[in-house]
Amino acid sequence: MTVVVGNSCIFCANVLNNSDEHIIPDSINGRLHTRELICSECNQKFGNKLDPVIKESLQFVLFALGIGNVKKMQVKDQDGKAYLVDQEGNMKHVAPEVEVFKIGDQTGISVTGEKNVAVRAFAKKAARTFGAHALKLMDEGKFQFNEKTTFLSEVSAPAKIEITSKLKLAINKIITEFFAYSGLALDLIKERTERIFNLDESGEDIILCNFDQNVRKVKENEVSHLLVIRSIRETKQIYGYVELFNVICGYTVFAEGYNGADVDFKYHQNALTGEQFDDEVLINTDAVSGESPSFDLLVNSVLENARAVQHSANFSTMLSDILAQLEEDVKQGKISVGEKEQQYFEQATKLAAEMMVFGFPDDVADFTKEEELMVNYIHSVIKEAGKKEFEFFYHQLVGREFPSEDDGLVYVMEAFKYKKHVSKNGESRVKVYCYFKAKNAASEKYFPCKEIFDVLGLPPPPTDMAWV
Ligand SMILES: [Zn+2]
Repeated sequence: MTVVVGNSCIFCANVLNNSDEHIIPDSINGRLHTRELICSECNQKFGNKLDPVIKESLQFVLFALGIGNVKKMQVKDQDGKAYLVDQEGNMKHVAPEVEVFKIGDQTGISVTGEKNVAVRAFAKKAARTFGAHALKLMDEGKFQFNEKTTFLSEVSAPAKIEITSKLKLAINKIITEFFAYSGLALDLIKERTERIFNLDESGEDIILCNFDQNVRKVKENEVSHLLVIRSIRETKQIYGYVELFNVICGYTVFAEGYNGADVDFKYHQNALTGEQFDDEVLINTDAVSGESPSFDLLVNSVLENARAVQHSANFSTMLSDILAQLEEDVKQGKISVGEKEQQYFEQATKLAAEMMVFGFPDDVADFTKEEELMVNYIHSVIKEAGKKEFEFFYHQLVGREFPSEDDGLVYVMEAFKYKKHVSKNGESRVKVYCYFKAKNAASEKYFPCKEIFDVLGLPPPPTDMAWV
């Protein structure tokens, strides 16, 4: 029996009632949709109970790419402390941390947390510690508020994607709908659609895969959603393959012992712009294997690709600005057309060089050793393997006092702190910060080490050190 798509819902056999179904959810920028697949009751049920799991699982990716309304995200650090992270990577404690400390015979209270919450927590602790006297202190303005920023790299939670049976069911729904959408025989997916209809998570249809990009290598600068349904002659199978943001990749076998005509359907879209790709997609089904769930490589790769896309978009905008200005100059008779060409070439080359060094040095793979050294130095970046040697080389900075003009306090350089940086040429790298603590207050500051080197007038490091 073959049910014809276009008459009845593929899940419950209700007559179709013009319900618009996004095969890849709208919430992750999916653009493939149809009114000829499922009924409004099913659409509503899945929209409430199943589809949201996709967005939840990809929350970190959406957040990092700035898609949808994910502006802030709650994460936890290794100790289970909760933070809110904004898109610049700044973190704030959700629950305030209260600390009472002594300097000499004076008692101080330090509260760290989100501003409004922290002020209240502070007032409460102050009243309890100092009694009514606290109110007098507050009136006299003897309190200090300092904003502190913690590093995103210190939390591990956000990049974690949990593989659950519900997530697999949601992926199964996507690829099964695409199977029906492609007009393939619905009797092959009868049991599947029943399980999906019943939100039955016990099925073993979907294998999550491609953790090492062996099933499909994502192209340079590609950030995409992909759906594929194909037959394989040798194994007589029809399989389905899904990629969402090139991070969640799922494989499924729809049919065994298939002898019919070749099947080859594909939907491939740019996940950032929605634009469709008409490219050749190679899938190595032999590399689909059991799950070794580590999304690190896939998440890093999609973030790198998105950054590279941003990079070239910025570059083209600046190039058109340059061109517009030069054309204006030609119009006003300030320069000739020939001079315009010449100046455009010169300015574009200079811009490209500046962007490589100051804007996106991590996207340039072929700096010479000297250029790499200079660029790393400008950005306070060192090789992780050289940390110890770096600290030894600059050990005299630790313990040094620096007066701050901003707040009139004297700060002591306490230690070097490191933030994970993009690796390059297979080498782990970190950005180095100098961490300062105020001498008689709870205030702290972080500066990229290059800023401190500049203040002190230090020369760039020798080229033969392990960290450069
Ligand atoms: Zn239905």
